[in-house]
Amino acid sequence: MPLDADKWRAEDAAMDARTRITVNGVVSGPMKVPAGEVAPAGGALADPFGRAITYLRISVTDRCDFRCRYCMAEHPEFLPRKEILSLEEIDAIASAFVRLGVKKLRLTGGEPLVRRNIMWLFRRLARHLESGDLRELTLTTNGSQLARYAKELAAIGVKRVNVSLDTLDAEKFRHITRRGDLGKVLAGLDAAQEAGLHVKINTVAVRNINGEEIPDIVRWAHGREFDISLIETMPMGETGEDRACQYLPLSEVRARLEEELGWTLEREDFDTGGPSRYWRVRETGGRLGFITPLSAHFCDTCNRVRLTATGKLYLCLGQNEDADLRAVVRGVPAEKVDAALEHTIRAAVVHKPKGHEFAISSEEIRGQMPRTMNVTGG
Ligand code: SAM
Ligand code: SF4
Repeated sequence: MPLDADKWRAEDAAMDARTRITVNGVVSGPMKVPAGEVAPAGGALADPFGRAITYLRISVTDRCDFRCRYCMAEHPEFLPRKEILSLEEIDAIASAFVRLGVKKLRLTGGEPLVRRNIMWLFRRLARHLESGDLRELTLTTNGSQLARYAKELAAIGVKRVNVSLDTLDAEKFRHITRRGDLGKVLAGLDAAQEAGLHVKINTVAVRNINGEEIPDIVRWAHGREFDISLIETMPMGETGEDRACQYLPLSEVRARLEEELGWTLEREDFDTGGPSRYWRVRETGGRLGFITPLSAHFCDTCNRVRLTATGKLYLCLGQNEDADLRAVVRGVPAEKVDAALEHTIRAAVVHKPKGHEFAISSEEIRGQMPRTMNVTGG
């Protein structure tokens, strides 16, 4: 439905209490948007820096069966259940984004596959694939439940899956995840491949834990015909671990691959719409991505926003501006929810910051966020 921005501006007074943008958790005022600043109705979502917003990541739950040391605390306080969006509410919000031109949806978390009835949401969102309005519906998972769901995901229309895996050593795996079973993840990967899903492995580089093992993990992934992306650890929330000790710049890892192992990395013109920059490793024949938010950030080409399980729309992974979309779905009369969501989303993207300020060194950690990655949706 086309949005009449003027009409909504006129109705803002009634909506003020429900559609607010907050910064650092403090309500900075009702989301009144000066004339001309809301992205024009019918046009694609774009932020003030001209970046088109075409990708929404949704944390469907902050809960997880693992407790990865760089991601969350060992005994986290999970969000109260009544604050979590229902699957129907997530569908309503995601569908508003699709109407506004978002082409890629990624369900993440927490662990998306531990959310009860999650296949209902995948099936529901797949209607946008069938209509052609959505280009890709995908997920990031720790793989522990993939053996159970891979076939169904493929049947629904999921083509690719990102599976996080930081080591191939079962004991180390249990150490990093504080409880995970590597065997289950490997069985999940087998199932994904059998189901015809294209797999990309995500490996967070953690100094003194898996730094030395990275070449073996890359060789293994490429041997299995998986793509693999390496990720720098970001200062997202307190996990009870020392971030400065964990941080391993990928420039260091790359130098080792090229100089010590003599690998040849050839730039690939491959773009999944995500933050990875890809290279082909001539010696293994596989594709290797680097996600370097700290050593070489990629904010200039950011096309993403994130929805938390409680309905907060974060406009940047590393900044605190958010808009409360749960207040819209729960506070506006049912017949007005779709239009109100579209209005609020348009108004929110105008506040997308230029970029994050993450930096980690032995002297300081900059840009630290109060929320952990499982809450934000990695
Ligand atoms: N549970 C799923 C998984 O692990 O794939 C999905 C959610 S998890 C938060 C998404 C991704 O974020 C994973 O690849 C994980 O390794 C990564 N991640 C978590 N905390 C991170 C941090 N502090 N810095 C960088 N990446 C992080
Ligand atoms: Fe769970 Fe994923 Fe965070 Fe690990 S990275 S604790 S699997 S949400």
